[in-house]
Amino acid sequence: MSKVTTILKDLVALPSVNPRSATDLPPDLVGEQRVTEYVEGFIRGLKLDVIIQETGQPGRYNVGAAMLQGNDRGTLLLQSHMDTVGIGSDPGLLTPVERDGAIYGRGACDDKGSLAAMLAALEAVARTPDRIENNVIVMAVVGEETGFEGSLALVTQPPTAGADFAVVGEPTECRIVTGCKGVGRWRIETSGTACHSAYPDKGVNAIYRMARIVQELEGYQCELAGSIDDKLGPETVSVGTIRGGTAVNVVPDSCEIEVDRRLTRRVSPEQARDLVGQYLRGRGIDFEFAMSELSDAQPAALVEDCHPGVRLLAGVSRLLGLDDTTGVVSYASDANRMNAAGIPTVVWGPGSIEVAHSRQEFVSIADLETAVEFYRGVILATAL
Ligand SMILES: [Zn+2]
Repeated sequence: MSKVTTILKDLVALPSVNPRSATDLPPDLVGEQRVTEYVEGFIRGLKLDVIIQETGQPGRYNVGAAMLQGNDRGTLLLQSHMDTVGIGSDPGLLTPVERDGAIYGRGACDDKGSLAAMLAALEAVARTPDRIENNVIVMAVVGEETGFEGSLALVTQPPTAGADFAVVGEPTECRIVTGCKGVGRWRIETSGTACHSAYPDKGVNAIYRMARIVQELEGYQCELAGSIDDKLGPETVSVGTIRGGTAVNVVPDSCEIEVDRRLTRRVSPEQARDLVGQYLRGRGIDFEFAMSELSDAQPAALVEDCHPGVRLLAGVSRLLGLDDTTGVVSYASDANRMNAAGIPTVVWGPGSIEVAHSRQEFVSIADLETAVEFYRGVILATAL
């Protein structure tokens, strides 16, 4: 069994469900600490300098390896996250299974596959540190699935803050992803006047009001579909939840929806929310509705193909016989936050986002081994 396969199986067997997405799980499944300790022990075993970045939450810290050559060199940062989504009602997801040339289990591709490949690459280069030209930092971070405590520490604390270029390991099927759409989420609320449902004329139905808003938002999506204005493709809007009313025999006096906007660089999350309000009023919505603050807000991110870091990744891809073209994705990742903080960041990792978060989460061993060679090539690349 290859080293990266062994590491990945170890990681999958260490539960690290994000604390914010786990309300009903026993404590021994929740939090990244078991993985953090494993990664720290691994790096110490390689006799590399260890970086610890506290996040202000007990037991939740980023851990990584620093191979620093000096101030006159560019700083290259590689990172993957240690937390996973929950396991639903399937504890079997915590037992790694090797089948048909792949490893199955929670986090196999999102994101322990990338992390295992980065650790295996570290082990490969640790034997010849004098071959490394850039300042290279490899980090395992907490809180990517929700909360984003880890990436916040990355962009605000040394030695990762101010890195010249970063690669986020997330499942991209071993392709270079230079752009991630932004995201903005918030609630819209309508009010009405409650009364007995046998006399609906006496009240104002907040659900009927919301129905008009929802219909207008469906139309807004059609307008956005024609809004391609940069490499990231069209923006989107989606209504994800709706809640209203208290009983079938009461005319409801409140209704609430959650709205999810995916963004290009044309608008910030705040502007996107305000534009929705303007659109609704422009479409003749003549009653009051309330819009909340943004619960998620990440601006779109795009690194140009001519950036030296992107060219470096394309060069390593060609050497390994991989696709060297760049693409974009519609979901947001730590790359959005890091780009917004001034670190040009792209995404590259083994496995497919299509099986992430699912009960059939897996990564192929061929992808994993390719990823070890890729990250190793990036770490050993010529000066940025
Ligand atoms: Zn992920």
